[in-house]
Amino acid sequence: MAGPVSVLPPLEHPPSRPRLTPLSLAVFPRLATAALDLVFPALCAVCEARLGPRRRDPLCGPCWDAIDRIVPPYCDRCGVPMPMREPPESSELGACRSDRGSSAGFARATLPGGGSEGAIEAPFDELEEGPPPPAVCSACVADGPAYDYSRSAAVYGGVLREALHRLKFGGRRALARPLADLAVEQCGPSLPDGIAAIVPVPLAGDRERERGFNQAALLAERVAQGLALPVRARWLARGRATRPQSDLPAAERSANVRGAFRAAPAVAGRHVLLVDDVLTTGATLAECARALRAAGADRIGALTVARVR
Ligand SMILES: [Zn+2]
Ligand SMILES: [Zn+2]
Repeated sequence: MAGPVSVLPPLEHPPSRPRLTPLSLAVFPRLATAALDLVFPALCAVCEARLGPRRRDPLCGPCWDAIDRIVPPYCDRCGVPMPMREPPESSELGACRSDRGSSAGFARATLPGGGSEGAIEAPFDELEEGPPPPAVCSACVADGPAYDYSRSAAVYGGVLREALHRLKFGGRRALARPLADLAVEQCGPSLPDGIAAIVPVPLAGDRERERGFNQAALLAERVAQGLALPVRARWLARGRATRPQSDLPAAERSANVRGAFRAAPAVAGRHVLLVDDVLTTGATLAECARALRAAGADRIGALTVARVR
């Protein structure tokens, strides 16, 4: 799975703080925020360290940086990274390839040292010239997914798995914000034009009542803001109850969700982008895509924060 992540242990003793005077509080709002942190320390939702430089609330900088981002090249259809084109790992190399300071292939911002002896070689030079031509993986050539394309921001594991668990099962709704921003930052530039609306994968009614919210809907709202697109949650609904996919082995997931969704007539002729938290087998997204297709959707994409490698 994901490479080693750096998770800071909770601090046992708070670090010493600069002294703040009332005058500086009035003059410098950022210092006022720091003063508020003294009274109510803002802690990272994953590692519980105090939020510091490069924080993406409620994630601390080190946790944010440790997320294993997916960058091109990947399959144009299913979004799976194409490992055969992965260049030598080098954080120096990564710094010039990605605005997130990540290396190509799988980004590992926490790579120690940088191992820069791997020179940039010919096959990867072309990436500097512009986007690589669309490439499709062998699995998609044989039998592609029911959706037209899929993109995921990062590999499911480490900090990201923790963050998604705490969003979903720990009720930390504030995590939807940085996680949706991650999806927009990593995948937004490679999404095709013409998307009519964002549609969250619906949660079964009883599970949404238990949890109090649908994490896909929270993510979709924020993704829609980032992409300046509308959310149309009513374009897709659960037609029947299903068991949680996470309770089932991969082979049974497809049957579990078969026929579980119903799409609204409004999707006819439109390009719809589905949003969910994690792509595991893709069974749920594929079934959503079938329902949208049956109702006449013209093009269907899927965007998730994480994907299981
Ligand atoms: Zn943290
Ligand atoms: Zn593929």
